[in-house]
Amino acid sequence: MQVGIIGGGQLAMMLCEAAKNLNIKTIVLDPNPKCSASFVCDRLITARYDSLKDLDKLASLCNVVTYEFENVDIAGIEKINHKYQNVVQTTLPLKMSNDRLIEKDMARESGFNPVQYAKVDSISDVALFVSNNDFPVVIKSRRFGYDGKGQIVIRCVEEIDNPKVQALISNGAICEKLIDLDYETSVIAVRNKESECKFIPSTFNTHKNNILDTTITIDRQLDKRIIELVTEYLNYHNLIGIITVEVFVDKGGNIYFNEMAPRPHNSGHYSIEGCNHSQFEMHIRCICGLELPDVKLLDQTMMVNILGQDYEHAKDYFTANPHPNLYFHDYYKQEPLVNRKMAHVTAVGHVAIEVLKRYQLIRR
Ligand code: ADP
Ligand code: MG
Repeated sequence: MQVGIIGGGQLAMMLCEAAKNLNIKTIVLDPNPKCSASFVCDRLITARYDSLKDLDKLASLCNVVTYEFENVDIAGIEKINHKYQNVVQTTLPLKMSNDRLIEKDMARESGFNPVQYAKVDSISDVALFVSNNDFPVVIKSRRFGYDGKGQIVIRCVEEIDNPKVQALISNGAICEKLIDLDYETSVIAVRNKESECKFIPSTFNTHKNNILDTTITIDRQLDKRIIELVTEYLNYHNLIGIITVEVFVDKGGNIYFNEMAPRPHNSGHYSIEGCNHSQFEMHIRCICGLELPDVKLLDQTMMVNILGQDYEHAKDYFTANPHPNLYFHDYYKQEPLVNRKMAHVTAVGHVAIEVLKRYQLIRR
């Protein structure tokens, strides 16, 4: 069995590690010969993501092809799937996740309602939305937004008509009601061709500068209604493979769809050591047609991301403070740029969690 992965970042790296444990070989396609996955995959094809020749080569060599991020070449993937029929997930989840408007329309179609939103093409569209829904609202670009980028919050009339809002709208945007969140959670699910669906136990997530910083496992079951809504959504659109759904819950207990990603999620990295089967293993199992076992939490778990600015210090700290239940995952990236995800640390069990919390306190 041979799995091809488009993209060679840390998600691909951890997919390769999971595949190795299942005795499955991996071929990764990435333009960077020293990408994270290059250190663990069985073979690397160094090429641009949109090189049709190389996508074809990848697909011809593999039983199954998957992708580790959303901004891949959808047309190219469609061509190889047409020829080799081995992109089990198809390109549907990519098309959904690449455009906030399509993403939210399709969630609503399945019965999973997002917070009130509308497509906005002009300042007067925003004004109309506000007159129907009141302040505050948030304008979000339809494409290429991540970590809170491409968003502007509007709290009063004076803030509507300004050049930044104009610029955002001119590239395609939606306007959304800004709600008072009780909590937000990301639900990671894996669904196979037989419509079997398994969930990775959820976490509480905290962000710093809109970038995920810490996840901690929740010691109770996630709201049953959330699981039902996500399951209906996956079934309705027949989504296959790993899908992460971000969910908002407001102070009144209302549950809303926010966005989805057809790939392993940073909030599920803890599952490598924290669960009996990781999110990476489950995705590989799913696309390779292997059995999908139940995923169970082994112990209370905490994960902290290590960004470029903290990387050297973190390596020193965890070398000096080792613990058998503390796991440092280095992504072997060349340059520790500010805010670049360089590594993560997982602590399993309360003793290791205390060591990790101490690191957070002294982190510079
Ligand atoms: P991104 O693609 O950048 O993750 P999101 O739509 O998930 O974009 O927004 C980033 C964060 O902003 C969310 O995780 C949430 O904390 C906050 N946020 C976004 N939309 C809303 C909203 N409608 N109401 C309240 N908070 C929101
Ligand atoms: Mg988000």
